Amino acid sequence: MDIQWYPGHMTKAKRQMQEDMKLIDLIIELVDARVPRSSRNPDIDQLGKQKSRLILLNKSDMADERQNQMWLEYFKKQGFYALLADSRNKTTLRSIQPLVAEACKEKLERDARRGIKNRPIRAMVAGIPNVGKSTFINSYAGRACAKTGNRPGVTKGKQWIRLGKGLELLDTPGILWPKFDDPEVGERLAMIGSVRDEILNTEELSLKLIAFLMEAYPGILEGRYALKEEGAPLEILRQIAESRKCLVRGSELSYEKAAGILMDDFRSGKLGRITLEQAPEAQ
Ligand code: GDP
Repeated sequence: MDIQWYPGHMTKAKRQMQEDMKLIDLIIELVDARVPRSSRNPDIDQLGKQKSRLILLNKSDMADERQNQMWLEYFKKQGFYALLADSRNKTTLRSIQPLVAEACKEKLERDARRGIKNRPIRAMVAGIPNVGKSTFINSYAGRACAKTGNRPGVTKGKQWIRLGKGLELLDTPGILWPKFDDPEVGERLAMIGSVRDEILNTEELSLKLIAFLMEAYPGILEGRYALKEEGAPLEILRQIAESRKCLVRGSELSYEKAAGILMDDFRSGKLGRITLEQAPEAQ
């Protein structure tokens, strides 16, 4: 959450990922289901091109159900194993097991063809900060948290969590860096609260969110804030300030406070299940 991305950090994260790639067979890539495009870093395609990949659309409990299905289809069409998840809820993670097994099967078959036997499949979790990697590892592997420790052939310092017969998970997730060169990426990650607020002005951000919601989820703001009139985003923000009695100096409306309330409501799911990025139309 608090990682500020300077070029040095990105280089370091990338180098770490390259190192970890040598140790694993399967990447469990976490993306945020509310922003499946902006929370991904396509560099992973290159870094992990020899690896099996399972894309987990995490925080799907906060995203639009229809969009969830469309994104799921989209990733499957791209040739990935994909799954919707709410990592805070262990039962939703049960359906990951068969997919992991399926993704690993290819690898085992390949091993068998090469005469390699009884080698455990090794997996790692990867994703940008705040996407839910630690939560996922704790939920998925929490009970099985007996560390396998350092063994011959295992890079010193790396800890593996045994997840069952023949499957081990690296206990530290791979950190991917967001694609900040696209300004929309920074904006959307700020909207979901995954980069610090100071980077982007809350009021501006809230106006963009209002414009998006008016277009994609009509009625949602009117319902929550009991708005009376339609108008441009700034007018809507003014009405939110009015209905929530956001005042400064006694009687002046505070747009800043209203923007803060709106962003908090969105980030905590009080506005409902919302996806900020639409899935590309299924081809
Ligand atoms: P990391 O930086 O990728 O390791 O992310 P964390 O595991 O620290 O999670 C960041 C925040 O997202 C925490 O407040 C979690 O409780 C929350 N979180 C993680 N997974 C989910 C999920 O599937 N649904 C919801 N609603 N919140 C989640």
